[in-house]
Amino acid sequence: MDYSRARILVIEDERSMAELLRKGLEDQHYAVTVAYNGIDGFEYANKGDFSAIVLDVILPGVDGYSIAKRLRATGNQTPIIMLTARDALDDVITGLDAGAEDYLTKPFSFVELLARLRALVRRGARPLPPLLQLEDLCLNMRSREVSRAGCVAALTKTEYALLEMLMQNAGHVVLRPEIIKKVWGTHDSIEQSSLDVYVKALRSKVDSDPATKLIYTVRGFGYKMMGSK
Ligand code: CA
Repeated sequence: MDYSRARILVIEDERSMAELLRKGLEDQHYAVTVAYNGIDGFEYANKGDFSAIVLDVILPGVDGYSIAKRLRATGNQTPIIMLTARDALDDVITGLDAGAEDYLTKPFSFVELLARLRALVRRGARPLPPLLQLEDLCLNMRSREVSRAGCVAALTKTEYALLEMLMQNAGHVVLRPEIIKKVWGTHDSIEQSSLDVYVKALRSKVDSDPATKLIYTVRGFGYKMMGSK
């Protein structure tokens, strides 16, 4: 594959930075399109067939996170590398959560940007992750949207991770340590009782009616999701 023929969309409002990126990327024989604000950026990204997007976070109109989120929500899986402010770890996490594949903190070295872009272009767009469904409860792993009986539920990141894990194992008991390891990771320790608090919150959002219950407590072991049919 000839990576140099790839089309790159640069969304950056700072003119001097945008021009530097354009020139540098064109020197590497990429075809470059530049958008100077979030609104144009989203429109180009949505319509164009790009190999990768270099996306600044702070933009007039629509910010970089919203662009990434909206693209993913509409099924656009063009790889995104986000340009964030220096040392802003929260920005990085927000960017990755929004659907970006990679990030660079400003100021960055152009050589590093080229290396990251090559990797993204090589990897290409990810296949769409599936939709998990249990009766009228739907979880879209692409848009991370959860709905019950057609009503969208606003879940926190942890509640979402917990539900995704339980739904992936629907029909089986998932043991408490297994859930904690998957949702919170091996390095973070949470109290056993905290898990119940999260499950309670999750139930109140997506499983509040006992008549159509989907999340079951298996006392002493863990939790199990199953439909009534
Ligand atoms: Ca900016």
